Amino acid sequence: MKALITGGAGFIGSHLARRLVARGDSVVVLDDLSTGAVANLRDLRSSGLLDFHVGSVADRPLVTELMDDCEVTFHLAAAVGVRLIVEQPVHTIQTNVHGTQVVLEAAAKKRKAVVVASTSEVYGKSHDLPFRETADITLGSTTNSRWAYACSKALDEWLALAYWRERKVPTIICRFFNTVGPGQSGRYGMVLPNFARQALAGDPITVFGSGEQSRCFGHVYDTVEALLRLVETPEAVGEVVNVGSTEEVSIYELAVRVREAASSSSEIAFVSYQEAYQEGFEDMQRRVPDVTKLQTLTGFHPSIPLSTIVGDVLADQEARMAERGTVPAVSPGPARARPSVRLDALARASA
Ligand code: UDP
Repeated sequence: MKALITGGAGFIGSHLARRLVARGDSVVVLDDLSTGAVANLRDLRSSGLLDFHVGSVADRPLVTELMDDCEVTFHLAAAVGVRLIVEQPVHTIQTNVHGTQVVLEAAAKKRKAVVVASTSEVYGKSHDLPFRETADITLGSTTNSRWAYACSKALDEWLALAYWRERKVPTIICRFFNTVGPGQSGRYGMVLPNFARQALAGDPITVFGSGEQSRCFGHVYDTVEALLRLVETPEAVGEVVNVGSTEEVSIYELAVRVREAASSSSEIAFVSYQEAYQEGFEDMQRRVPDVTKLQTLTGFHPSIPLSTIVGDVLADQEARMAERGTVPAVSPGPARARPSVRLDALARASA
């Protein structure tokens, strides 16, 4: 298979590229490096299977050309990260809506398959848990930039479904719930890499709000597995599918677990949303996916436990600190979580 990955130098995209290359598939990556990094694909350069282009998904001729000899496009290029979204609402709306339109229009020319990355943010403030794909969405006011992100991704979903219904472009929409793992930067506000870095440095672990809000964190290896299975499932075409773990944890409890796993003595510091983001910021209290559809379609659902995920993220942050020449404030103790058993290697073996 030859696949185009837009946003392929980003966190999920680079893991997907690695899995595809490991099983012998050719990968074309298009990334504008706004939040992705060349370093994420460094190890794939010598494979001879990676064709990397720095450019924008808004570049219609380039997208059309790159898609031409690919069977499938994984459209992952998007503005991501709550901090970035709140600070750059124009960029967020433009990238997410216009970029997806360009990709789908290019795909329509030759009816190429497109997997569109969406997000659990589209469920908004809904309290109807667990979130099912057909449920109503409940977004907040347009005066709050956070909802512009949710709305832009909802529009992406409508576009993808419209291209399927009207133009017969085979599209699959994946609603990713909080996806984490090695390689994720904390720069754009994601909670787990931040907590891991803070715990290792002995800095205060910053819990926003009361810490009672909860999330389900899925390992990026499981997310990639779900993507690969969905793309091989004809029944998934024209469907919206939740992709995420169902292991729920409060953000306060997450801070405690990260601190314990790192054998750190960091204090846990509560920070108001106003201080962390901006006046009027609204958070989701709970976010739990119903993954019945994913399981029914593919026979798979994410199951890597949070303990493994925390261990992997700590190991990754530790490696980053070593690269920067920073010494962690904690020393590895017997209680310290170790990284999981080389899941990439396992994935390769099963491919
Ligand atoms: N959060 C936190 N401390 C941080 C970063 C985030 O307490 O340093 C909280 C954030 O307010 C939210 C949760 O952790 O309630 C998950 O945040 P993230 O940005 O990772 O993802 P979200 O689910 O909000 O998209």
